[in-house]
Amino acid sequence: MSAPRIALCGFQIECNRFAPPAGLDAFRAGWLEGPALLADARSPVHNNLGEFNGFVAAMDAAGPWQPVPLLFARAQPDGPVTAAAWAGIRDRLFAALEAAGRLDGVFCVLHGAALAEDEDDPEGVLVTGIRRRIGMAPLVVTCDLHANVSHSLAAVPDAFVGYRTNPHLDMRDRGAEAALLLRRILAGERFHVAMRRLPLVPPSVSLLTASGPYAEAIAAGQALAAREPTIANVSVMGGFAFSDSPHGGMSVVVTGTDAERAETAAEELALRIWTMRRRFTVRLTPIAEAVARAAAAEETLILADVADNPGGGGRGNTTALLAALHAAGVHGVLAGLFHDPALAEEAHALGQGARFVARLNRANPPDDPFAPPLAAEAEVLVVSDGAVTGRRGIYAGVRVDLGRRAALRLDGITLVVVSARIQCADPVFFEHLGLDPRAARVVVVKSRGHFRAGFDEVAPPERILEVDAPGLTSPVLTRFAFRRLPRPIYPLDEDASFEAA
Ligand SMILES: [Zn+2]
Repeated sequence: MSAPRIALCGFQIECNRFAPPAGLDAFRAGWLEGPALLADARSPVHNNLGEFNGFVAAMDAAGPWQPVPLLFARAQPDGPVTAAAWAGIRDRLFAALEAAGRLDGVFCVLHGAALAEDEDDPEGVLVTGIRRRIGMAPLVVTCDLHANVSHSLAAVPDAFVGYRTNPHLDMRDRGAEAALLLRRILAGERFHVAMRRLPLVPPSVSLLTASGPYAEAIAAGQALAAREPTIANVSVMGGFAFSDSPHGGMSVVVTGTDAERAETAAEELALRIWTMRRRFTVRLTPIAEAVARAAAAEETLILADVADNPGGGGRGNTTALLAALHAAGVHGVLAGLFHDPALAEEAHALGQGARFVARLNRANPPDDPFAPPLAAEAEVLVVSDGAVTGRRGIYAGVRVDLGRRAALRLDGITLVVVSARIQCADPVFFEHLGLDPRAARVVVVKSRGHFRAGFDEVAPPERILEVDAPGLTSPVLTRFAFRRLPRPIYPLDEDASFEAA
């Protein structure tokens, strides 16, 4: 095969069942179709998270090939995709595939925790539909570390590659790995994908990969892959609890040339992780304790508002922690990103230096459980607009549009208000406004964990507090009315059990 024709496509959104639905609009900023997708994949500053860049570079390096860029639809984490938007994206992707002519392979970039209003397994539907259209041609997929892996998502592709780092920093590497596996298949190798899902739904804050049980599970998978030549990839997928998915739970996915060995490896690693289940725990800091620590801070302290993480479907507008810090008169606080387009717009209209009463969440009812209105005297420090390029961590090299935005001073708190809902994972989101997080006494980030790879230069892990505030992404899973998660599941159900299949 001289220059194999390889289609590039994908669909990426992490869905929180408890968040409001996401329409087609949610995909506008992350929509790449046809030549624009390939151009993005070859650009040092890009819109996709890097899987395509890694894949294309590795394919280029390995020999001739012909990229056939189709469609990649990516959105920020949100609620389930509306039925209409999901049908539109799915059908457009399938139509592009049908129009592409003969294909020698497909690379598909997925998340794994998508939902649609009328579909609990969008990724499974996509890979099944792709398979129907390409026959025996190889299909290689990448998934986010938070994938809820369905049977179809594991069984249909020829190779499965999941992220291995959280915060997510290895998208480019995983794309490159997918290219190498695809090249091996094109050269005649055949892979089998084995999957075991555990009845274990770890709170997302327990899924960091620098240390702890999840880091050990991933390392065990890599050790296994290193010593067993038939195994091409081991992916330990953390799952995403808030999807409330029937495919929820941590899973082990093994791609290998020997089906039996891949199955055995998946089983052994899953059993090993099961023995570690009690270590996937959380210790959050109550708001009152966080405020006291903030008031007394002498070196920069980071308060992570983990329960309102836009990177997990949170709306970026809860006020419990902000109100408590404000009421306590804590000063030297830098906080963001607060999602309130009406307030950002008003700050723009008033202009820099204006003093006014900032009304946060003005359209929400007073009894909103997470984001009630809050009014405070404020000064407009600076306003800005347009996209910024990520500097550090998950968004390094990624163009991010924060929309119209402003920094407001509310007594001792400098609050960055944005029009685009996005997690505060990169210091550049403050710095481009002339605000230096390293100079702040207290930095409040609406982010679950990705901020750790951006703000590691601001404070070490021991000066980070994960605060127990209310919100759509609270790690306290008992606060959610799960209806579709497979039960029993640990730690929601102490009696959950897992045995060898
Ligand atoms: Zn993720």
